[in-house]
Amino acid sequence: MDRIIDLAIIGGGSAGMAAALEARKEGIKDIVIFEKDTSLGGILLQCIHSGFGLHEFGEQLTGPEFAARFEEKVKEEKIEYKLETTVLNISKDKVITYSNPSEGLVKLQAKAIILASGCRERTRGNISIPGTRPSGVMSAGVAQHYLNLDGYMPGKRVFILGSGDIGLIMARRMSLEGATVLGVAELMPYSNGLNRNIVQCLQDYNIPLYLSHTVTKIFGNDRLEGIELCEVDEKMKAKPETAQIFDCDLLLLSVGLVPDTDLLRNINVTMHPRTKGSLVNESLETSIPGIFSCGNCLHVHDLVDFVAKEARKAGNSAARYLKNELEEKDNNVVVKNLNGVGYVVPSLINKDNVVDNVNFNFRVSKPMKNVWVYIKANGEVISKLYKQAIIPSEMEAMLVSKDKLPESGEITVEVSE
Ligand SMILES: Cc1cc2nc3c(=O)[nH]c(=O)nc-3n(C[C@H](O)[C@H](O)[C@H](O)COP(=O)(O)OP(=O)(O)OC[C@H]3O[C@@H](n4cnc5c(N)ncnc54)[C@H](O)[C@@H]3O)c2cc1C
Repeated sequence: MDRIIDLAIIGGGSAGMAAALEARKEGIKDIVIFEKDTSLGGILLQCIHSGFGLHEFGEQLTGPEFAARFEEKVKEEKIEYKLETTVLNISKDKVITYSNPSEGLVKLQAKAIILASGCRERTRGNISIPGTRPSGVMSAGVAQHYLNLDGYMPGKRVFILGSGDIGLIMARRMSLEGATVLGVAELMPYSNGLNRNIVQCLQDYNIPLYLSHTVTKIFGNDRLEGIELCEVDEKMKAKPETAQIFDCDLLLLSVGLVPDTDLLRNINVTMHPRTKGSLVNESLETSIPGIFSCGNCLHVHDLVDFVAKEARKAGNSAARYLKNELEEKDNNVVVKNLNGVGYVVPSLINKDNVVDNVNFNFRVSKPMKNVWVYIKANGEVISKLYKQAIIPSEMEAMLVSKDKLPESGEITVEVSE
């Protein structure tokens, strides 16, 4: 092995940079960020709309502006980063195999690893839309890259399937560039995007939102010529009698994001059954000691500010691990989601490792009004929160102070209507 480093961070997006800065603040010297793209910043670089940084910097920034602030700090702190460098493999004993144009294929030993590799968009293959396979069908994030970074206009008459935030933002973006956006269809009876995006990206541009609808056919040979849209029943089955045809040359898919955890799967890290990210404890440590995860590769976040906060936690935990300040314990408290809650992160808690509090992040499984969210320890309420309205597309956070956490047993997060 040519080199041994303290901390390897895989991914130079907002999570990777925030984690690196925190670890440096905690005194970790030898840190390397590995980024496969040509610059630091991650997905933020293609998000040229504003809406980033309200919590982190108290002002509305564009994605590239937000990323630039973190990049400057990484440079100020002289944290090493390798661009155009793809991590191909990590082993259980933390050997990193990476490749880049100048060094070729290299192996390096890390003492701790933080995975901050972001997420992927679900594609047409993931949702199996029948029909021909013309060009002009792509994910909303790919279209965003074409338009905002490469300067290509991917279509003129656009239909969008899925009301996730990327789709909503692209509806507005394509309209601003002169395209006609014919509509956004959503399979569920409610939108999967943030409310502010429904208002600012659809309603302000008179773009119709078809709830409980899906695309049932794709027409065209070389290039997309149109789509068939149908209403669905309560079992999500298309009703053929409701079919309408839209002439369009671009179908954008905004049908969900999935944490990119391939590197962890190869070493059999325990995965979270709901988030598709890894299962982590209070320190954001995976089932392999010394390997941590944060940002969109842990669970998909709506706001970069929350990504940065979580990543700082991972950076802090990795530093404590390297300083032998994290205790290994088998009988952790198990965290479970109950009634109305889709998932909770973290999944395990070792109270001895908690500094001041634990931040429970969760999403509800359906929209609800006038509810209480309860966090209970072995049946006793330790925290509660009243919400006038709560929706799956908005990630919730509740802090529980260390003194309220149990030593053993289970913690549940549930909603009572
Ligand atoms: C279209 C869109 C709009 C958004 N709008 C907003 C908004 O208005 N406001 C807001 O606050 N948030 C918004 N967000 C959310 C926020 O931007 C993201 O949640 C956040 O930036 C994710 O950061 P990350 O570091 O976890 O992932 P990413 O930014 O995706 O970074 C992951 C990085 O890891 C690298 N990588 C992956 N695998 C490897 C490997 N094997 N080797 C080396 N490098 C690797 C990738 O190249 C990438 O640079 C938006 C997100 C999207 C997609």
